Amino acid sequence: MPDRAQLERRATELLRRLIRFDTVNPPGNEQAAQELLRDLLEAAGFECRLLAAVEGRPNLVARLGAGSDGPTLCLLGHVDTVLADPAEWSVDPWSGELRDGCVWGRGALDMKGQVAAEATAALELAEEGWRPEAGELKLVFTCDEETGADVGAGWLCGRHPDAVRCDMVVNEGAGQRLEFDGRRLYGVCVAEKGAFRFTVTTSGRAGHASAPRIADNALVRMAPVLEALREGRPAYWPSPEPEALLRTLGLDPGDLPGSVRAMEAKDPRFATLIEPMLGVTLAPTMITASQKINVIPSRAELQVDCRVPPGLGEEAARSAIEAKLGSDGYAIRFEDEVEGNRSPVETPLMDFIRGFVDRKDPGAAVVPVVMAGFSDSHWWRAAFPECVAYGFFPRRVMDAFEAFSLVHGADERVPVEDLGLAATFYADLMVETLR
Ligand SMILES: [Zn+2]
Repeated sequence: MPDRAQLERRATELLRRLIRFDTVNPPGNEQAAQELLRDLLEAAGFECRLLAAVEGRPNLVARLGAGSDGPTLCLLGHVDTVLADPAEWSVDPWSGELRDGCVWGRGALDMKGQVAAEATAALELAEEGWRPEAGELKLVFTCDEETGADVGAGWLCGRHPDAVRCDMVVNEGAGQRLEFDGRRLYGVCVAEKGAFRFTVTTSGRAGHASAPRIADNALVRMAPVLEALREGRPAYWPSPEPEALLRTLGLDPGDLPGSVRAMEAKDPRFATLIEPMLGVTLAPTMITASQKINVIPSRAELQVDCRVPPGLGEEAARSAIEAKLGSDGYAIRFEDEVEGNRSPVETPLMDFIRGFVDRKDPGAAVVPVVMAGFSDSHWWRAAFPECVAYGFFPRRVMDAFEAFSLVHGADERVPVEDLGLAATFYADLMVETLR
């Protein structure tokens, strides 16, 4: 097994180098970062391919032990990032500065930090001469995760399924320490919600704004719709992942609103994180009505971001909308519909994660979580139905509340100790799974 201190040092240096490549997407420009990773992995004995749908934006597939019988383990990551406004940061977002025990920069958490930890674990093992005794190890680093994966994971799984097919994927999505009611928890992201975004339209009659009562103001007709969405509570909908989570916390999965009240009584921040997993959420985000200040609008449009538990479709969204808004006074038009998907909660991979957490943080519990957003795991689950895809990047120093405020925000950073912990996890996983 590689030395923990060496893993930490090397992951830290690799992350600092990766951050210095500006891979803000759009436009992405992932080529140079991918070439660095390819060169390192190739030198350690990996068989590498850069697969690109468009010039300058390759995906990297690196394989070790190809051809032998046994499971295929894939460590996944994306090297593009969201943008950063240097004016809001205390350091240059592309400096990879080392300060206060953390590596700072855009992508430190989402997700160059995990890429660095995965690559470091693989490099250290391969350079020591380790090879899978059974099965195959794949490292897949994608481009274009942040804007829809059209030339990244979506394209890769669709066009090159043989290159990326596998039995297990470990990707981003969870793994930070989370505390609730005196207990330490580590989330494993086993599923992702779907997005069913829609437009609500209200109609009235136009008129001159100087005489409000001669018209029928469509914007004012939107008021009850907004009012109904004010609280932001989901339309509760049972599903297996949050039920397992609630049971671990000693709450009643048969009573979702009661469980939320119990969480709120102990820790409102925790409830805010967990509640969206428990049903269909509806968040109004954009509104348009009259184009002129002196014209009462005959039509108003409100856009609502709606997230639906994995496996459910438009019908679930419609039933939640009706439960919240009633059925009169507005019309609905769906803008995009993407169904979420899931992997089973109980698998050998989950057992392995439990064992690791038990060794590193005795007494802590591992809980399944559902991501409200979207990650590359979606594409693997959709393309390879037997594949188990989890999000797990273990971190103990930085807790989930702090991490959530930094992802896509200013001063994104990751503790080097957590990089070492994560690299240890990935190294253990490779050795134990592929023996
Ligand atoms: Zn990400």
